[in-house]
Parts: sequence; C-alpha cells; structure tokens
Amino acid sequence: MKIIFLGAPGAGKGTQAEIVSERLGIPTISTGAIIRGAIKSGTEMGLAAKKYTDAGALVPDEVVIGIIRERLAEPDCENGYILDGFPRTVPQAEALDVMGVKMDAVISLEVADDKIVERMSGRRVCDKCGASYHVLYNPSAKGTTCDKCGNELSIRRDDAPEVVKSRLAVYHESTEPLKDFYAKKGVLRLVEGQEKLEDTTALTLAALEASK
Ligand code: AMP
Repeated sequence: MKIIFLGAPGAGKGTQAEIVSERLGIPTISTGAIIRGAIKSGTEMGLAAKKYTDAGALVPDEVVIGIIRERLAEPDCENGYILDGFPRTVPQAEALDVMGVKMDAVISLEVADDKIVERMSGRRVCDKCGASYHVLYNPSAKGTTCDKCGNELSIRRDDAPEVVKSRLAVYHESTEPLKDFYAKKGVLRLVEGQEKLEDTTALTLAALEASK
C-alpha cells in the first residue's frame, strides 16, 4: 500500500507511521527526518534547509520534491511505503501525480490546535534513530534515553512554543488544502487523534482496512 499521513505538526504522524510501517512491513519516508539528518551531517542541502526549519517555515518545494523523487526510487519502496510529512503543499502533491504515484490511502490525523501546543511541549526525540516519544502519552521505558538505540533523547529546536505557532499557521494555510485535494480523488480518511496512541492506531488501521 502507498499511504500518506497528513496532519498538523505534533498530531502523531511520525508515531503512527512507525507503528503501521512495522505492521505492514513497508518503509516510512519522513522528509522531516531526512532534512534533520542532512542538517546534522552539514550537507549543502542541510545548510540551505536549516534557516527554514528553525523558523518553522517550509523548505522550498523543489528541494523536498527532489528528496522524495530520489528516495522513492530505492528498492525498498517497491512494495509500498508511508509518506510522513510529504506532501505538505498542493504543488508537492501534484509532483507525486506527475511522477505517476497513485496513493491508496491518505490518513488525516485530526487534532485541535490547543491540544497540539500541549503535545509539542512534551515531545522528545532520538537524534540517532529518529524515534519519537512523549513524556506523558508515549514515554520511553528508559526515561531519558531511547528504547531502541540507547541514545540520549532531546527536544527538537522547532518544538519551541513560538516556532510551533508558526508551524501551525503554515499547516492551516499550505497543508490543510491537501485534504480537499485528496478528498476529490476519493482516498481521504479522517482519523480523530485520541488521548491514547493505541486507540489512534486502532482507528488508523480500520481506516486503512476500509481503503483496501
Ligand atoms: P516534520 O518532522 O515533518 O515536522 O518536519 C520538520 C520541518 O522540516 C518542517 O517544519 C519543515 O521546515 C521541513 N519539512 C519537512 N517536510 C517538508 C515538506 N514536505 N515540505 C517542506 N518542508 C518540509
């Protein structure tokens, strides 16, 4: 299956994508994680992208479209994949169409803005393997280190409250119109984000089942 996870920053796209990815045995492709990796390694693309991510703005379409085009050509994408954080604008979605990629399901995780702000303050991430946690809703069993690789957990720079506000504004302006875009194609499924992440997973899996 080819699946897109849409939703505001902090709605749980990455966490749900990771779980569904394991269940279905298909990779998750996160443009945010790829960009953070490039920033960390100091590549040319990373250096150019940093000023956008730090400000909570979107990296230009041509850059992320290039990232996705390369990544989808990898052999592990042959049996399907989950896109987490791409597309985020209508031109990015149109680029997928031009590439001849047809999505089976687009899951929009619905979480109200006030909840998002609350969730972002508790998010912790692993810089090494990309795993994501929440101090209340999805804590690491080891406390301050990653359950998967043991690395020290950190707070994303762009999870600072003032940056979250800009990211939410960008979501409503540039990304939310994609719901209409995919509703017209008949593949959009709305999933209400629940307090417990396993409840959101159950709703997500049901929505995917209905999309088969
Ligand atoms: P995420 O981890 O998905 O929240 O992405 C973190 C940041 O990376 C975003 O705030 C953007 O600055 C950038 N980014 C990730 N994916 C995209 C995309 N599809 N289009 C533009 N910028 C992106």
